Amino acid sequence: MSSNTETIILPAPSPKQPYVRISALEGGHLTLPEKLFITDADPNKRATVPSLCFLIQQPASPKPTNLIFDLGLKRDFTGYRPAQQHHIDQRQPTIVSPDVRESLQKGGLSASEIDTVILSHVHWDHVGTPSDFSNAEFVVGSGTLDLLAHGGGTLYPAELFNPDELPKGRTKELPPVRTSSSSSSAPKASPNQTQHTWTPLSAFPAVVDFYGDGSLYVVDAPGHLFGHVNLLARTGPGKWVYLGGDCCHDPRILRGERGIAMYDDGSGGLRSVHVDTEEAAGTVKRIARLLKQGSVVEEGGGQMEIEVVLAHDREWREKNLDRFWPGTL
Ligand SMILES: [Zn+2]
Repeated sequence: MSSNTETIILPAPSPKQPYVRISALEGGHLTLPEKLFITDADPNKRATVPSLCFLIQQPASPKPTNLIFDLGLKRDFTGYRPAQQHHIDQRQPTIVSPDVRESLQKGGLSASEIDTVILSHVHWDHVGTPSDFSNAEFVVGSGTLDLLAHGGGTLYPAELFNPDELPKGRTKELPPVRTSSSSSSAPKASPNQTQHTWTPLSAFPAVVDFYGDGSLYVVDAPGHLFGHVNLLARTGPGKWVYLGGDCCHDPRILRGERGIAMYDDGSGGLRSVHVDTEEAAGTVKRIARLLKQGSVVEEGGGQMEIEVVLAHDREWREKNLDRFWPGTL
């Protein structure tokens, strides 16, 4: 029996609780050198991993909505800026087909039918091809638009981002989570914000009830990049899915088998793949609690089944090919 401090209590369903349906989508593949990501790495090992994306359908009234979480790689690398292309050279081999648009088409859905795109963050392997989603509203974490326009400090120079990445007039930021930021290089919040409010949810200090009906929560997941967010989705009675984005790049970190790698930052210091390694470690710790057997319960109810999926989990993809759209999680 787990103690109260370890238990994660998720909100009880409402009498007419809507649920979401989640399908995995292909978002291309890239190659990561293990030594940049996990401790005790094989210095020469490189792994070609997916950049998983997800279709989240909400069948509730007044009309069903199609939401996508993350867009993977661009199929046309000329859409990346020169400094991004230089960085991508170090992530070869890459695979760009099928991308999200093609993956949707395979299940009979067109990119123009997508209502909302939420990006976990705006690294090159998550931004995809936004112009495909001509009718979608884009929703990103606070500070993302400033990051795209001006970069975020020396390790995150402006040339690694594109100020025109997301459609002007169709992009909104979630409100800032905190009023003051610990980092002086943290980007500024945009005045163009969604109407959401951050509230705590059990172990998670800040979540947003995205549709206001308890079916889909956006979870503040600080550490990896400014504005990094995850999703917590209610997929059925007693069933939840947590989409962890880049909270870590290797499931062994989540399971506590490896740590977050530190490496030379090029100016005599150490860095990790995260903007704030300590915050990223805290985020991982919270998510890892979801993996503990029997640790997730529903308010006034029993144990919950919860599946955690990371964006770059190759093993998950290989074992779950039948859960790609039109299949479901
Ligand atoms: Zn990333």
